[in-house]
Amino acid sequence: MTPPRTRRSTAGKRTSSPKGGRAHRKPAVRRKKEGEGELRTRARSVLRTLREAYPQARTELSHENAFQLLIATILSAQCTDVRVNMVTRVLFAKYPTPAALGAVQQGALEEEIRSTGFYRMKARNVLACCRALVERFGGEVPPRMEDLVTLPGVGRKTANVVLGQAFGITSGVVVDTHVQRLAQRLAFTEEEDPVKIESDLMSVFPEKDWIDVGSILILHGRRTCKARTPDCPSCPVSDRCPSAT
Ligand code: SF4
Repeated sequence: MTPPRTRRSTAGKRTSSPKGGRAHRKPAVRRKKEGEGELRTRARSVLRTLREAYPQARTELSHENAFQLLIATILSAQCTDVRVNMVTRVLFAKYPTPAALGAVQQGALEEEIRSTGFYRMKARNVLACCRALVERFGGEVPPRMEDLVTLPGVGRKTANVVLGQAFGITSGVVVDTHVQRLAQRLAFTEEEDPVKIESDLMSVFPEKDWIDVGSILILHGRRTCKARTPDCPSCPVSDRCPSAT
């Protein structure tokens, strides 16, 4: 387990809109002096409550196996899960294996996945990933973090999704844009870098909860604690959130 680090304040920092719109201010987190023990107790209490709110928290990317989840997760960057599911339903019916998908021409694959955005880069990564699976892993998705992150287009976030959701292997905490935002608002971290945020979350929550932490925070971020308009009045953990308004 990665040891806890000293946390620094970024509350109230001005940021750019991800879509290039007007800059907006993060909610200022009203921090009280909170020791590591208090932080862990509060974090686990928050997770308990959110688990009751989202008892079926799982990835919303449709998949039947680890390979499908791996490709769907690569395609999900800057795209909704609903859109990815529409694309992959057709894609996996035509190309069900790494060998079949890896043999598609770049231009043809770009057309298949165009609606997910960033389709040229994603097509390059999907093809290179499939070919690496065939050449280095016998056409199977390797169930180890150190192998997964060697695949093109695969970082810790994608690897954690695949290991946790397809293999049930606890390797870390999925940190996407929702988890990043919620971890900061709930004052579980003061970091900006996803790897450091993951490290903070791994120190705050017990290992048995790491898979659920990602899934639950993602759902809470989508449904209630939205980027621009967090619905604090209806949030079940507002009494334990330093950013509640
Ligand atoms: S109270 Fe809930 S919705 Fe509001 S910032 Fe905190 S976690 Fe998000």
